[in-house]
This record gives sequence, structure tokens and C-alpha cells, in this order.
Amino acid sequence: MAKQKRIGFLEVQEQFGSEEACRKYLVELRWPNGFICPRCGCRKYYQISTRNKYQCKNCRYQTSVTAGTVMDRSHLDLRIWIWAIYLVARDKRGYSAKQLSVELNLPYNTAWFLLHRIRKAMAQRDDNYVLSGIVELDDTYFGKAKKGGKRGHGTAKTKVLVALSKDEDDNPQFVKMQVVPNLKGKTIGKFANRSITEGAIVQSDAYRSYRKPLAEKYLHDYQVFDADADMLHWLHIIIGNTKAFVLGTFHGLGEKHLQSYLDEFCYRFNRRFVHGEIFSRLACAVMASSPLRFADLT
Ligand SMILES: [Zn+2]
Repeated sequence: MAKQKRIGFLEVQEQFGSEEACRKYLVELRWPNGFICPRCGCRKYYQISTRNKYQCKNCRYQTSVTAGTVMDRSHLDLRIWIWAIYLVARDKRGYSAKQLSVELNLPYNTAWFLLHRIRKAMAQRDDNYVLSGIVELDDTYFGKAKKGGKRGHGTAKTKVLVALSKDEDDNPQFVKMQVVPNLKGKTIGKFANRSITEGAIVQSDAYRSYRKPLAEKYLHDYQVFDADADMLHWLHIIIGNTKAFVLGTFHGLGEKHLQSYLDEFCYRFNRRFVHGEIFSRLACAVMASSPLRFADLT
């Protein structure tokens, strides 16, 4: 299906005015080349139209367009989902559960869970990509410091690793962020392995924990931190923007859900040049996702 350009409120209302229209749109995103049985891969099916289900002609497995995605077992109308995806996509600052519950007339907890499911789809989409070329890597901290607590790498604040790839002209490309329990070499190595392609040039400060894990698979370019040297320039700007995003929309939050807000920030940042397409891209990400249970969040 062709990427959809920017659409406005009236177009959403017109195009997605009925459950049927929403379902048709989601079916095209989920199965662009026609139905595929998630169990056996067969393409032939019967449609059980009274229950909006598909039954595989081969193995008789029954499924629906939303089964197996983050929408799995959702009792919300598809129209609510489409509007939620649209509202989240169009607002660059991010949408809070409170705003969404007011806009879509939903109980707060329902809006909260809905947003977490959309963020999960964003995270899963970005998990498909790794950074390459020249990558800046650093750690940062979120949350309030404890009174009299340690500063720097030993702080009790929530620790986050951030990696940013750059193009040949030193402009930022893509970013990844991960909440981590500590800043030990093993933790840093694990984050680097899943986020950065082997052989990339990785720039960081000279913090000891970075050296061993990065020397193994990367060309590690490190410099002793110098506050006046404008080191890791873009990375520090992006970290500042992330903190503003988290504080501005979500008014600060606990460590528990920080990762999902970081995932949302990264997803938006990584698509900043295709903002006009972000609704259809996000709808695609939702249809390509795997389930998130309420119990996973509590
Ligand atoms: Zn089957």
C-alpha cells in the first residue's frame, strides 16, 4: 500500500467513519499481499463475517486482523484505535494519557494502556534497525537525585545509554536509548551489540567501562571528557531534547515506564524527516507488532 501523506481531521473522519472502513485499512496494512495464516502460512481462508474472523482453509486456525498485534484482545472500537494512532502521530510533543482520555472520552486507565501499546509498537519497529557508520555513545541520568547521594556514574538516578549515528557531514541520523541497571562494561557491551553494527566507529568519552567492550567489535575513538571541547555535540543536544520531552508532556515519571517514553522519543526523532507520513507509518508499526499485556506493565 502506498504511503499516505499528511491527513487532517476531516479526512480521518471521512476515511475512517465506520468500523468497516477502519478494518479494511488495517487488513491492507497487515496483509498487503493477501491473507496469510499465522500458524501454517496458507493463503486460503474462509471469512466468518459475523465475527470478523478469518479461518484458514488448511489448518482451520481462526484469527482476526488485530490478533497477535498490540491490539490483541482489545475491546475498543477500531475507530478509537485509528483516532488514537492519528492523534499520537500528529502531535510532535507526544500525547499524555490524560489528554487522550479527554479527546476520545475514554477512562484514564484505558487511554494509558492504549498509549503504552502504541509505544510498544514504536519500540518493536525501531528494534529492527541497528546504527552504523560513525556513532556517538554516552550515558545520561533521569529523575531526581537523592539528597547527599553520589553524582556522576555512581548516582542513584536512572541510568540511560544513548547511541546516535551520524552521516558523513556529521549530522545526526538515528538514535537509540536504553534504561540500564548499571554502567558496567558488560552492560555497555550488551547495549552496543544490539544497537550498533560491528565495525562501526564509536565515539565516546574515556570512561573506563567503555573501553573493553567497545574495543572488541568497533573502532573505538575516545577522548578524555573536557567540558569546553564540545564533545559528543549532537548527542548532548538530543539528550537535552529528550529530557524536555519527558518533562513537558509526562511531567516527569518513575523509572518503571521511562523506557517506553524514550522509545517514543526515539521513534519520533528517527522519523523527523517523514513527519507527514507518520500516521500511516505508525499504523503499519501497530499492525506489524506483537502483543503487550496489561500485566506486563504493572
Ligand atoms: Zn493455517
